[in-house]
Amino acid sequence: MKIEKIVILTGAGISAESGIKTFRDADGLWENHAIEEVASPEGFKRNPKLVYEFYNARRSQLNSPEVKPNKGHQELTRLINEFHGEVTLITQNIDDLHERSGLSTKDVWHMHGELQKMRCQKTQRIFNAPNSFDEETECPCCQELGNLRPHIVWFGEMPFYLDEAFEKLTDCDLFLSIGTSGLVYPAAQFVAMTPQTCRRIEVNLNETQVSNQFDECRVGPAGVVLPILVEEVLKA
Ligand code: NAD
Repeated sequence: MKIEKIVILTGAGISAESGIKTFRDADGLWENHAIEEVASPEGFKRNPKLVYEFYNARRSQLNSPEVKPNKGHQELTRLINEFHGEVTLITQNIDDLHERSGLSTKDVWHMHGELQKMRCQKTQRIFNAPNSFDEETECPCCQELGNLRPHIVWFGEMPFYLDEAFEKLTDCDLFLSIGTSGLVYPAAQFVAMTPQTCRRIEVNLNETQVSNQFDECRVGPAGVVLPILVEEVLKA
């Protein structure tokens, strides 16, 4: 079958080889914090200071000189630039490593938001975030304190780009799911939305809860698996 339309879903695993920890290690914590503490509206209400500090620390790590896009990001950029048909890249990642590997911001759909952005809770306007901000930072639009929050989708909030993603998923010939655990919804359901005729390939260090829904699971680090896979797709 000729491939014309590709949808790619990436998760925290693709950035692991850049030194950014994934969401859920075996102990169920994200960078030593309970997920509901730092990734829920209730957690933010309970302890805003902790949540600001958590995302400020993640941003400072992301902006440190040793964090760079890895081979996995670079290969996906090559696929998007060289493929003759349409490629849609949907990421659960809040980092900007896809963009830093050469993609334009319009080519990357951040369904869970972006670490490098902040949002005014009053007007919903989005701004580039400084390295660090908190409840003492004056909002650029309303000039008030306490209105800014990280531009991150927390548990219980609606992800971005869902309608657009569903449209692309239901009409694609190849679906690649890379470095995602299949535990976070709705992204975990994306594979089930692809048409019967679509070829579905998962790339992960190990099998996941949704592996049985794929035609093929390529086991290994994204930085090793993707150069081979991308070459195959470009030659198909
Ligand atoms: P997850 O942490 O739940 O799962 C990561 C998956 O990647 C695991 O299945 C793991 O086996 C796999 N993996 C680890 N290293 C890999 C590698 N080198 N190559 C291939 N696969 C590898 O992540 P998720 O499913 O993306 O969960 C989503 C949540 O995590 C999102 O809400 C996202 O915002 C958040 N998150 C993002 C980042 C980031 O932006 N880099 C980092 C941590 C958490």
